[in-house]
Amino acid sequence: MFHKMSCSKLVLPFLFVSLLASANLSAQMPVSPETRTNVARIIGDVMVNGKAYKYDRQLADSVGPRLTGSENYVHAVAWAQEQFRSLNLASVHTEPFTLPSTWEPETPAVGRITAPRTQELHIYSLGWSPSTPASGVKGEVVYLDHLTVEAVDAQKDKLTGKIVLVDKQSEGSDPAIGQLFKAIDSLKAASPKAVFFVGGADGTEVGNAFTFDGTLLKFPAAEIGLEDAGLIRRLLEHGPVSVEFSFKNRTRSNVKVDNVVAEIPGSELPNEVVIVAGHLDSWHPGTGAQDNGTGVSTVLDVARAIKAAGRAPRRTMRFLLIGGEEQGILGSTAYARSHQNQMSSIDCVLVSDTGAQRARGWYVMGRDDEKQALANVEPLLAGLGSGDTTPSVEFLFETDHVSFDLLGVPTLVLWNDIDKYFKLHHKASDTFDSVNQADLNQGVATTAATAYAIADSAQPFAPHATPAQVEEMLRSKRQWDDYQYFKGIGVFP
Ligand SMILES: [Zn+2]
Repeated sequence: MFHKMSCSKLVLPFLFVSLLASANLSAQMPVSPETRTNVARIIGDVMVNGKAYKYDRQLADSVGPRLTGSENYVHAVAWAQEQFRSLNLASVHTEPFTLPSTWEPETPAVGRITAPRTQELHIYSLGWSPSTPASGVKGEVVYLDHLTVEAVDAQKDKLTGKIVLVDKQSEGSDPAIGQLFKAIDSLKAASPKAVFFVGGADGTEVGNAFTFDGTLLKFPAAEIGLEDAGLIRRLLEHGPVSVEFSFKNRTRSNVKVDNVVAEIPGSELPNEVVIVAGHLDSWHPGTGAQDNGTGVSTVLDVARAIKAAGRAPRRTMRFLLIGGEEQGILGSTAYARSHQNQMSSIDCVLVSDTGAQRARGWYVMGRDDEKQALANVEPLLAGLGSGDTTPSVEFLFETDHVSFDLLGVPTLVLWNDIDKYFKLHHKASDTFDSVNQADLNQGVATTAATAYAIADSAQPFAPHATPAQVEEMLRSKRQWDDYQYFKGIGVFP
């Protein structure tokens, strides 16, 4: 679907014409008085009768953490289908994809510095790391000061057979994701005995994996507390540092994982679809209340509120709860691949995955035409404080919308404040305590109003981008090289 053009002279005039055409088509999607009346009803219903807070509490507290493919993930799939069925949604079903490997910690990790003196480490297995040998891993630590392909290749001999410590400073300031992953590939090729990455402050764990396709790493990888890493680095200034550690993980190969789907059929254009989506999986240290319990609760409560409004929008609304997001956007990639010949019927995909602090509006992810298209929707959201868009592409490759973006489908990602979110992201503190009901409802109301206005509009939301336009957008936002890297390792449709 991506055609890398070899002659820009041929491409550019075509692009120029088609962008003009799309500007005409997309300018200001209309919102009818009837749509506006229903949007008002839906926003009021979310604020008065909204159940997102209740959904989030059930998912986080009663189902708990939901590593993709785990037993809890299976419970979450059953719970989500039950909610959709109790709302009387149509075609509630699951669509499976295959995860190369599941991963769950079986025993807590233990580890210590053994020389020049002994000290216990705050240590955790990295996600999708194999178990250590039963006797543990013992050896000297080498600090990698530059996580770049050149630096790793230059000191390959010093890294082979050693326990390599990589911290935030190793990554440098503002590294390109693709470059980092290439450097990690070089590190893997250097055959270290093990790798230490750095977790959170106060010796805490941060759920993470260093494969991008749901496969296991080839060697044990652990996280040590931020302060432990600082101590090791200071000790290394005076001489060799040795450590020992062990942990056991439970893994299973080629596991079927379900995405959950439900619909409200369109009243006039049932074959055109607006998707509201969020990922159902989470990391294990907390209960995934914000990442992404609030997104799941948003999808469910948008479905509830639009159903309760009593008048289905013109287009079909499809609600999609996705697995494998945290291991590399795997569930939405699988969904987009298996529905690739239907992409032209998808009018827009709206995603919630940045927690539930106050919503400002929408990320348009490089699509300036979407900002224009929202001009008549923004006044509906102004009273909620969310009638704005941001041109930022900071999170372009970081959640499920991107599987659709890359196929040219217009997408919107809910734009929330994220200062508190990133303090609890993937950590033990991501629990229901951190969720604020008023802020959550404001994001749900924003999502429900926007999704309904788009699904009920007399015109499509925004044009689908051609492969050349997608490439142009990625290049103009300096995201093309990262995309090429991910594409090269088989990630994304
Ligand atoms: Zn997430």
